[in-house]
Amino acid sequence: MKKVAFYTLGCKLNYSETSTISRMFEAKGYQKVEFEQNPDIFIINTCSVTDNADKKCKKIVKEAKKISPNSYVTIIGCYAQLKPQEISEIEGVDAVLGAAEKFRLLELLDGFAKTQETKVLASEIQEANIFNNAFSIHDRTRTFLKVQDGCNYGCAFCTIPLARGKSRSDSIENILKSAREIAQTEVKEVVLTGVNIGDFGIREGKRQERFSDLVFALDEVEGIERFRISSIEPNLLTNEVIEFVSRSRRFVPHFHIPLQSGSNTILRAMGRRYLRELYEDRVDKIKTLMPHCCIGVDVIVGFPGETDELFLETYNFLNELDISYLHVFTYSERANTRAVEMDGIVPIKKRNERSKMLRILSEKKRRKFYEENLGKTFTVLFEEDVEDGKMHGFTENYIRVAAKYDPLLVNELKTVTLTSINEKGNVEVVEPELVYESHT
Ligand code: SF4
Repeated sequence: MKKVAFYTLGCKLNYSETSTISRMFEAKGYQKVEFEQNPDIFIINTCSVTDNADKKCKKIVKEAKKISPNSYVTIIGCYAQLKPQEISEIEGVDAVLGAAEKFRLLELLDGFAKTQETKVLASEIQEANIFNNAFSIHDRTRTFLKVQDGCNYGCAFCTIPLARGKSRSDSIENILKSAREIAQTEVKEVVLTGVNIGDFGIREGKRQERFSDLVFALDEVEGIERFRISSIEPNLLTNEVIEFVSRSRRFVPHFHIPLQSGSNTILRAMGRRYLRELYEDRVDKIKTLMPHCCIGVDVIVGFPGETDELFLETYNFLNELDISYLHVFTYSERANTRAVEMDGIVPIKKRNERSKMLRILSEKKRRKFYEENLGKTFTVLFEEDVEDGKMHGFTENYIRVAAKYDPLLVNELKTVTLTSINEKGNVEVVEPELVYESHT
């Protein structure tokens, strides 16, 4: 029996796909092993959002060949779709598969026999028009359930549409089937993932269903305690979805909403489909209905044309907004994007300075959000990891909680009262009691 190991870079969507592909291998009798356990085959699922992602891929291949010199190394994922030739020149790579090929890996690389030449099987992205459903299981406390893939938007800085193709999704019926399958396992929380999940419902290029209908249907799935929406574009986060989540049985009060810039000048240059007034309106709507709701924000610093004044617009906008934390990305030039042709390049040093300022602001926001929720009672889904004798978990509104390690608590939902913020910035809870009242 051949041994296969997997390594995933990038987003929740990549993790859901690697997990699904690994189950396909196990179904064919391969033994899934850890990266360091001398496998015969390595499958490396790549990302390509930043330059770093490319460098990481090269490093992992080198490590793989050190661990198992005669192994067969296959590269899949976004980097593989965008730069298959570049990857085929990395020493030790045996095969590179594109977005349309990655789920046919076992069929296309039958037997994984080494050849002189590196196999490059990456068709044009237009060919990647099939939706392959996927979900992660047994890898982490939470399951990532893929509901949508690809994107029809054309944001000036982004290569994802070039790496993953047009927007397409599974049917609500099929997703319910996967959710019910997951409900048969010990998983308690499912995170809906995709590229542009608010655009859910497009099949064969035509809109057939709506994201809100998917949310309504999933809320009825018995056996899943929590559904979390991973990330959703502000212009696709409807009042209907916000109102539903505010009274939902299973959808948690946590939205991660990409903003990218707080300056309308930059938003227009990026080709985003909203202005900051719409974003502010979404935040107000959420906080009116769910004051304890957690709101995470993606923001890019250093986009071409971002002067000091325009950056300050972003800083002040975020500083005013009632949000909970930021994910700060430093703009990096990506080939074949519109932004790479734009004037007004921001020096790297300035980009890093701005990134630092927003990371400090993010910590300030997170702390304020945590303080506002002290003394309140929430449920926590405790995870496996232990740090300094403490185990951790997240409340439904995404507050990271620390508690004394107790093996009985792993993957358990507990009602706790938030008491204080410790030196690590996590929230301490007192004597949590196992009062897990199932509402199934
Ligand atoms: S919405 Fe924009 S940033 Fe997001 S994946 Fe699509 S093109 Fe990229």
